[in-house]
Amino acid sequence: MFKIFIFFGTLSLFSSPLKHSFFPRVLVKGFVDYYYEISEYSKVKFEKKSEYFKDVYIKSDTISETYVLVIGESTCRLNMGIYNYYRETTPLLNSITSELFIFKDVISPNTHTLPSLEKVLTLGNSENIELKYKGNILQLFNQAGFNTYWISNQRPTGIWDNFISGISNSANKNIFYNISSEKTPYDEVILDSFQTILNEKVTKKFIVLHLMGTHMVYKDRYPKSFEKFTDNPKSKFNSSESITTINSYDNAILYQDYIWYNVMDLVKKINNKAAILFISDHGEEVYNSIDFSGHTETKGTKAMYDIPFVLWLSKKNKNDKSNLIFDVNRKYSTENLIFTMADLASLKFDKFEPSKSVLNKEFKTCKRIIFNNYSYDQYFKK
Ligand SMILES: [Zn+2]
Repeated sequence: MFKIFIFFGTLSLFSSPLKHSFFPRVLVKGFVDYYYEISEYSKVKFEKKSEYFKDVYIKSDTISETYVLVIGESTCRLNMGIYNYYRETTPLLNSITSELFIFKDVISPNTHTLPSLEKVLTLGNSENIELKYKGNILQLFNQAGFNTYWISNQRPTGIWDNFISGISNSANKNIFYNISSEKTPYDEVILDSFQTILNEKVTKKFIVLHLMGTHMVYKDRYPKSFEKFTDNPKSKFNSSESITTINSYDNAILYQDYIWYNVMDLVKKINNKAAILFISDHGEEVYNSIDFSGHTETKGTKAMYDIPFVLWLSKKNKNDKSNLIFDVNRKYSTENLIFTMADLASLKFDKFEPSKSVLNKEFKTCKRIIFNNYSYDQYFKK
């Protein structure tokens, strides 16, 4: 079967009769890409450690440390109160802004979960995507002496057809909630396990929370009690569909504010040296600049890349981080996040690149690559 697709795929790319047949060519090329990708996965075992990370400094002291990476879904910062949206969609986070570093200009490298997170969570980036097979963030933390956890409210798919599910296998423990064919649970479903893990008698923990966030269908992401925005939103698109959609998206953001706040609250209670980074896999267009809601690279808009990047540090951690710089105006793409997370947890390894950590003194603003190798800053220049 695979060979048939590859045969036709190759034919479609090089033979003139099919060159003019756009649709089948794209379709077949899609299959070829897909099976190429699968054959590449088969070479990756998503083990607990990667030989590619060398000279990883192992933390063997007895100080309790907890680092949490919260990955939201389809959340555009432009709709968040803490990013000056006109609606109060983040009242809880707004009540504690003095505790947060709210980075103002961070983007995702892509507008879809898979191409974005395979960079965010690995050494791979737009310059060298092949490095995604070499090492991921969980392996790095494992090698540094951490216990690693992956708690997800996203639907798990087979290890061979979803690179992100594959990465989650590098965690010491992974828990998936969204596994039945019934309705996706609300994100609060992860909080109990999260609390249990926080209380485990383990000194060093790295926990990834992969949420459903504000993924469409927006109205299914929050309970009725979070249906706060029902009036006419400010928008140049005033169809009944756009009004309903914007309102439900804003309500989904309001619910996410509640989830993020509760995650923070649980971490505060354990009173560890701790840090939490909240991001989204990519943004979302919700009738912001075009008459459309969703995310697609073919009509990529700024809102599809503009993500929140919110950092919280415990008091015990702040005193220890004088070597880092918390400049919320730095422009960053999360495709280099592995270096920032390493800095945050004071991890050392041979491949560490200080210029790619947004917290490092040697950080350098570089070209933020998006689709077709465009520069985000050039493409969306005002
Ligand atoms: Zn996504």
